[in-house]
Amino acid sequence: MENEGIKRDYGCEYFNPEVETLSRGEIEALQLKRLRETVQHCMNSAFYRSRFEEAGLTPDDIRTLDDLRKIPFTTKQDLRDTYPFGTASVPLEKCVRLHSSSGTTGNPTVILHTDRDLDEWANQVARNLWMVGLRPTDVFQNSSGYGMFTGGLGFQYGAEKLGMLTVPAAAGNSLRQIKFIKDFGTTAVHAVPSYLTRLKEVMDQEGVDPRRDTKLRIFAIGAEPHSEEQRRRIEEMFGVKAYNSFGMSEMCGPGVGFECKEQNGLHFWEDYYIVEIVDPETLEPVPDGEIGELVLTTLRREAMPLLRYRTRDLTRVLGRSCPCGRNHVRIDRMRGRSDDMMVLKGVNIFPIQIEKILMQFPELASNYLITLTTDNNGDNMTVEVELEELFTDDYVGLQNLAKSVQRALKDEILLTPYVKLVAKGSLPQSEGKAVRVVDKRSVYK
Ligand code: ADP
Ligand code: ZN
Repeated sequence: MENEGIKRDYGCEYFNPEVETLSRGEIEALQLKRLRETVQHCMNSAFYRSRFEEAGLTPDDIRTLDDLRKIPFTTKQDLRDTYPFGTASVPLEKCVRLHSSSGTTGNPTVILHTDRDLDEWANQVARNLWMVGLRPTDVFQNSSGYGMFTGGLGFQYGAEKLGMLTVPAAAGNSLRQIKFIKDFGTTAVHAVPSYLTRLKEVMDQEGVDPRRDTKLRIFAIGAEPHSEEQRRRIEEMFGVKAYNSFGMSEMCGPGVGFECKEQNGLHFWEDYYIVEIVDPETLEPVPDGEIGELVLTTLRREAMPLLRYRTRDLTRVLGRSCPCGRNHVRIDRMRGRSDDMMVLKGVNIFPIQIEKILMQFPELASNYLITLTTDNNGDNMTVEVELEELFTDDYVGLQNLAKSVQRALKDEILLTPYVKLVAKGSLPQSEGKAVRVVDKRSVYK
């Protein structure tokens, strides 16, 4: 195993110094070696064998990293079509766990893991948590749902691998979360960002001041798109550093990409994945700095390796070096998935653009909901947003505030939404990923 024999020095910045500080040339050499192994291994899967045959390719055609582009993309639809086990590259008896996505729009997707997959996944998560300064002396509480959602077991095993005392609190029950944080001296929490704002509301109601009454110092936030403004807000609310964590079940789960202490983008671990950013229309690579669809190839997965998997997440490459000493590619925070994009009156809009504007108003709380409707004039957008308590009784003031919010939103998204200011706590709260958009538009336009 990759970290076997490493003597842990708490003062060392790196969990796995050898891999984390590889030069670009070393990273690419390792990637080529692992890509060739992965492609070869994929030939154990009926799905990839026929994919290669159809494309007139053999594993020997992959000699350089650029040759990756000869390989056809793999899509979520492919996983659905081969549901449940059709893309597996090992016999089922070698697998020890599966995770499955919710499957709201058809067959769910299933991801299989061998024992080695689980061990390496835990190493990835441990590497991330170490990178932001967590050590075996920390107490780590996980507020993710446990079960099929990979944020539960993924962080659990990673935090244990690092050696922390872990509190598998699971999702919801804020009063209990707060009690655990206080009683167990929790120093770090993993949560979806929308849940942390809810947790802070409950702390306020209970008279708990996180700076005074808890030992919290680090959050891992992820699993859903959130803006830089939302992150800063969370950090200020709690007096805790919040690091962006990216994962997806197809790639194992959490651990794929994580911010270092510089908070200048997410390091994607290139000893485990090859990162491509492509134009979602032409599927050609886009230059660094330009936004496109994230495409990932697994380099170490045993049970279900995936080649050129189209994630549908939109982002861009920020750089390939970092003051932290890691040369693993830095990826910008996700704009959202291509299927989160709303098209209104010919304009493309992502929920995160709306969030960014709302978070600039200190009078507004963090929970919001976007509703799309149709009337005789075409599509409309209504943005409902909760108010901070202090600003609820001055009617004229509220009207002016609504107008300012509307103007600021228009500047960002180029059309004028209705803005409704509502009382704190009145919008629906979900325990997992937040639902930000309700589309009630007629399909018979
Ligand atoms: P599901 O597909 O059911 O949502 P996953 O848990 O596998 O299940 O979700 C992975 C997706 O979650 C990613 O493709 C991405 O859209 C989103 N996601 C995960 N982490 C982040 C993050 N840090 N920022 C933005 N989006 C994220
Ligand atoms: Zn860094």
